[in-house]
Amino acid sequence: MTTTRFAPSPTGLLHVGNLRTALMNWLMARKAGGTFILRIDDTDPERSEERYADAIRADLDWLGLHWDREERQSARLDLYQAAADRLREANRLYECFETPLELDLKRKKQLAMGRPPVYDRAALALTDAEKAELREARASHWRFLLEAGEIGWDDLIRGPERVDPESLSDPVLIRGDGQVLYTLASVVDDAEMGVTHVVRGADHVTNTGVQVQIFAALGHAAPEFAHHSLLTGPGGAALSKRLGDLSLAELREGGVEPLAVLSFLARLGSSDPVEVATDHAALIEGFDITRFGTAPTAFDADELRHHSTRTLRALPFEAVQGRLDVPEKDAPAFWAAVGPILERLDEAAEWWALCRDGVEPLIAEEDRDFVREALALLPPRPWGPETWKAWTGAVKAATGRKGRGLFLPLRRALTGRDHGPELAALMPLLRGPVPEVPPEA
Ligand code: GLU
Repeated sequence: MTTTRFAPSPTGLLHVGNLRTALMNWLMARKAGGTFILRIDDTDPERSEERYADAIRADLDWLGLHWDREERQSARLDLYQAAADRLREANRLYECFETPLELDLKRKKQLAMGRPPVYDRAALALTDAEKAELREARASHWRFLLEAGEIGWDDLIRGPERVDPESLSDPVLIRGDGQVLYTLASVVDDAEMGVTHVVRGADHVTNTGVQVQIFAALGHAAPEFAHHSLLTGPGGAALSKRLGDLSLAELREGGVEPLAVLSFLARLGSSDPVEVATDHAALIEGFDITRFGTAPTAFDADELRHHSTRTLRALPFEAVQGRLDVPEKDAPAFWAAVGPILERLDEAAEWWALCRDGVEPLIAEEDRDFVREALALLPPRPWGPETWKAWTGAVKAATGRKGRGLFLPLRRALTGRDHGPELAALMPLLRGPVPEVPPEA
């Protein structure tokens, strides 16, 4: 069965780049009727914070990306230690004693000699006696011994992918303070949780090369991999967590529709066009990971906002029902009248206040007599869907005005503004006092 996971580290807020990863994994699992796991990668106690784990869950909830199972790496440390023991027994994990300073020096020397800064495996040559002596003096860390020979996999997005282990340092899997690092923990989890597909950013390609060897060393089959291209800003600059305006929290506060975020990111960078969606089903149905390209994908927040407005206006009443603070009996008619002109859903509140309480009319000096005459012709309440047409017909007949000269002063008198919903649809919802032309100043 298809099983995917989204594995954020709780060290900051999710941004659109992370969401792309989450979404692709979610879509893949949902399309296959499989399982989507939320895995909190919190092995680093110094950088992981509970408030970020909470924020990650809140963001995914807001988007409706529900997970079938949640795991945290900090609760699984024993499993990682057991895996490390097995690697030691297989002679694939070796103890090293270099300090960061010594490693830095080695790198600088290599670079100065025009060589790639790959760890020289000096620790492999240490005798037991030397190691015992070093252990007295300093903490040791543990490196995974990479095997020679090209590592390859068929990437679902990038196609045949190759990593040459000769160009890599043996990765540290256990730090000097005993902390197991993500590279190992992730492999143990993916194997143990039955993850079948790992979808993540192209910045993990090298990592995947290493992890393919760790899977094999632990006797597991590797999952399938798909590495999506990284998002850039409109100018091509890298997106980062520091770009706060692209955090999901900020998009949410900015009134961007969650469904728009999903439909935008589910197609951006693929050969399929971004289309307005009014539910998840179409997104899931049309998702195909192999249609994504490998070139960096430009993300434009303004385009997303525009897409959000189009999405909002396409939403049926049922989709916004629970989010409108409007009495139940009025809500459907209100949505039909006001929905089509909103840019953000939160603008609905002021339109409802206007319906409920009325508004200071806006009356130009030169329209005073006209508006006074028009208001005298206003049919008595209750106003229905025909009222606007009947009234403006009567006003036109009485005054000879037509077009903009007829409609705009009436709109201003009823709503206090130049633009807004179709008045035929809005009038039945206007509950405030009938406007009056104020006496001459
Ligand atoms: N915690 C890792 C990250 O956020 C997960 C990478 C992966 O998907 O394996 O980069």
